[in-house]
Amino acid sequence: MKALVLKGGRDKSVKRLHPWIFSGAIERVDGNPESGETMLVKSAEGKILALAAWSSASQIRARVWSFDPGVTINKEFFEKKLKAATALRAALPASRHTNAMRLVHGESDGLPGLVVDRYDDVLVAQFLSAGAEHWREAILDALSAATGCAAIYERSDAEVRALEGLVSKVGFARGNRQAKRCPIAEHGLNFRVDVEAGQKTGFFLDQRDNRQRIRALAEGREVLDAFCYTGGFSLAALAGGATHVTAVDSSAEALDIARENLATNPLDASRIAFEKADVFAYQRLLRDRGRSFGLIVLDPPKFAPTAAQVNNAARAYKDINLMALKLLKPGGLLATFSCSGGVSAELFQSIVAGAASDAGVDAKIIERFAAAADHPVALNFPEGDYLKGLLILRT
Ligand code: SAH
Repeated sequence: MKALVLKGGRDKSVKRLHPWIFSGAIERVDGNPESGETMLVKSAEGKILALAAWSSASQIRARVWSFDPGVTINKEFFEKKLKAATALRAALPASRHTNAMRLVHGESDGLPGLVVDRYDDVLVAQFLSAGAEHWREAILDALSAATGCAAIYERSDAEVRALEGLVSKVGFARGNRQAKRCPIAEHGLNFRVDVEAGQKTGFFLDQRDNRQRIRALAEGREVLDAFCYTGGFSLAALAGGATHVTAVDSSAEALDIARENLATNPLDASRIAFEKADVFAYQRLLRDRGRSFGLIVLDPPKFAPTAAQVNNAARAYKDINLMALKLLKPGGLLATFSCSGGVSAELFQSIVAGAASDAGVDAKIIERFAAAADHPVALNFPEGDYLKGLLILRT
């Protein structure tokens, strides 16, 4: 097998079982590996440390499949991993309350670059690394076998594919069926998921528990759901007894599905207003109109996918949080989120603190949010902990 040899003193990360090997840590490559090919990872002293997938185009030059050199990376390897990943989800309490789950969460399931979400009987797969792409057919077969799902839609159109030197690929990889509106249910609420054209794989499963929390907090409150997408938090708030919900998003397609989602539930449509608008401008409009809210949800898109965009992202987070705090009634609650990998929980908290101080309001953190348990974070892969949120009480 071809091998990559690490520079002296650059094997600490691999020894701590971190699955990424950056180009700068590699002393030399023995052989001429194709992208996606399995390689031995050796220390400068020649000790075999891991088996990894080579990725010639990426700064993350190799991603580890296994730290056990005795393992063979083959079809059976993926069958075993995918069986374990699906068993983990089947054992979660959430599996009794929904038919939509993340089945594979990349590195945290020992499968770098692979994301798989299940929407009832349809799987949506993203192959985001050269290694995952290399084993695509074996993975697709193993997924069908592990889940019994005949239809697998591929959404390999995430930007990170380009960093791996891979072109974008979208369409049914297995089976075929209507996938513009896959019906799912979550804690008794019905949603339709557009797995073909929706954002990411179609629905933000990571917010499942946080939607439940908003449902429990919404009673008797007037709610602003900013960046509402297909209405996840809005419907949860209505179901929880919100007096009124203003749901804002810049995407007309997302709002169309949000309206359809509303119609598939026994909720009072007169208590919700959908607004197609830019949240940055819309919050100012609300302020100028003298509006105020008892509960605001801020769940923006990833402003900083990586550390390089942190400064601009910090300004954007501060702006929307500052405006939200001004729009809150005393005693009001702000549920504010960041899904930016480049913004740590500490940084996010300090941005929100800065926003409160500039807004001139007294505010306290009363809860913290993270992604639901079907998005586990492997302890050797802290990068997996991307979603953080704070529940802020304006006193
Ligand atoms: N809260 C949602 C997920 C939000 S995803 C849920 O639980 O399902 C982020 C959303 O922000 C997307 O729907 C995107 O269309 C929207 N968006 C991005 N930039 C925006 C902007 N400047 N103003 C309004 N919406 C925006």
